[in-house]
This record gives sequence, structure tokens and C-alpha cells, in this order.
Amino acid sequence: MILVTNNEGTIGVPTTARMLADGAGGLDAIEAGIRLIEADPSVRTVGRGGWPNILGEVELDACLMDGSTLRTGAVGALQGFLHPVSVAREIMRRLPHELLVGDGAARFAREIGAETADNLIADSKRAWQAWFDAELTPEQTAAWPDVALAALCQHAIDPEVGRDTTVFLAQDSSGAICSGTSTSGWGWKYPGRLGDSPIIGAGSYADTRYGAAACTGAGEMTIRCGTARAIVLYMKKGASVADAVHEAADDMRALKGGLISRVTIHGIDTRGNHKVVAVNGDGSNVYWLWEGAGEPRRCPAEAARIGDGVGRVSPTARYTAARAG
Ligand code: ASP
Repeated sequence: MILVTNNEGTIGVPTTARMLADGAGGLDAIEAGIRLIEADPSVRTVGRGGWPNILGEVELDACLMDGSTLRTGAVGALQGFLHPVSVAREIMRRLPHELLVGDGAARFAREIGAETADNLIADSKRAWQAWFDAELTPEQTAAWPDVALAALCQHAIDPEVGRDTTVFLAQDSSGAICSGTSTSGWGWKYPGRLGDSPIIGAGSYADTRYGAAACTGAGEMTIRCGTARAIVLYMKKGASVADAVHEAADDMRALKGGLISRVTIHGIDTRGNHKVVAVNGDGSNVYWLWEGAGEPRRCPAEAARIGDGVGRVSPTARYTAARAG
């Protein structure tokens, strides 16, 4: 057995590890761990307490993948529900589809009686209002929300704060491999923007025959590279998990233009090996590892560097930093 989560998994990792130790299936254990993180408003990038989009609305993305059936359930830009990961699980269980977004996802969540929530906490609202007051002209304020958002959104892309995800990769006691993700995506994102977290093959992928991978950071990069699927495919073709993750990091060197920022790549194989590489990280990236016994422990990620434009600080970074300080 093995469990790898990123640092945002802190609140959920003990529960998931305990459940796996007690013989729970990987999907049940991952969903239970992620639900704890989604419900905790102190985690500012997942579930309730997550940062809003540029309209001040919290849109949540999540997914689960069962590596034994290759069934997935994913939900994108979901508003008004506490546990996107459980809505994703029900998509997998009840529908012939794999991914629902926006109004359709909310409709499905209502239909199954998913728990509703106001995910915009007061502190996020205050930070968003500070951005709004500082950034908009009087004309835009008067016309709001009927203003062009594209330019405003360019300035709001923020590689320093206001984004992250939780990712979980597990092999359970039966040998089955599963993955899960949940996020509010980038703060101040364009409404309807999906990151990689609900995009199977980009933000996560699991195949019980080979292993699993999941990413945090700039989803725009992993969507373009098909990162998580690529890692599992590299393992299928004989690469070790370490080589597969390095190869996927190297793939990112081909990215030209667009957003080049930070991505942390997590991978596990079928034999209890794992690799975590922080591409363009600042050296502080850590993750959680549980190897089937004892307590989960925090480990440092390996660092890699590609591209340029890293560490750009946007106006949004100023506002969120000012709020935090
Ligand atoms: N990968 C997430 C996204 O692009 C955000 C993050 O992990 O920083 O939405």
C-alpha cells in the first residue's frame, strides 16, 4: 500500500491512511480524506474557503479515478455545494458520463441531494472587494458585471498566491490504484475556467496495472502536456516512476507562450515507489507519504526548473499579500 498527497492534504491524510490500513477501498479512503479538506475553510484553495473567480463567485473543480475500471467522475465550475469530490463520485456511480460542469453539474448535485454551502467566506469576500475597489475604473464599477473581463483577468493571474489543489494517489490493500483531486482553482480566474483538476489525463490519472499521477500548480501547463496520462503511459512503456515524472517535467520545455509557471507532479507505481517533482518551485514544496505502516510523513519534493516568466507577481498578488499581512 502507498498514499501520496500534496501539502494541502494535511487535514485529510491521517483519515485516508487509517482507512487504507483498515482495508478500505482506495476510492472510499481518498473521498473521505478530501471531504475533510473541502469542509475546512482554513484551506484557502479547496472547497469552502476557496478563492472566488473574478466575479466573486467560488467555482469548484474535483475528480476521482478508479484505476481498476478506468471509470472517472469529474465536476467543474460547480457553485453552491460543499463536497465537489462526492458529486464527482456520484457522477461515476450514476451516470454514463465522466465530467459535468457549471449549471448541469449543479443541477445533478441538487438531484442527488448533495449538501449545499455558501463557499465564499468573509475573508475571501473582503480580499475580492479590495481587488475590485482598487482595480476597476468608475465606469466599470457602474457597469459591473457587464464589463469586459478578459483584460482584468490577465492581470489577476497569480502564480504566487491564491491557488493550489489537493491531490491524493493511493494503492489500497487489494492492490487497486486510485486518484482524487479537489480545488477552487486560481483566484480571480475567468468565470468558467477549468484547471487541470477535473481534466482526467492532465491533473490526474490512475491505472491499477501501472500506477497513477496527479499535479498541482498551473493547470494550463499540464492540460497542454497531458501530464498525468503521459506519466502512466511512460510507466506502461517501461519507465520507472521517477523516470516517468522526470520525462513529464521535461515535456514542459516544449511549451511556448501562454502561462509558464509552477507545477508539482506526483507519481506512484504498483510496487510502492513514488516520485514528486516541483517544476519551477521555490524549494519549499513538500508532500505527504504513507507507505502502508506507521504515520504519514512529510517529505521534500525534488526541484526542477524549466522556462521563463517564473515568479511573476500580479496585481492580485499585491492585494492578497496586503490582506495576509
Ligand atoms: N492545478 C490547479 C488549477 O490549475 C490549481 C493549483 O493546483 O494551483 O486549477
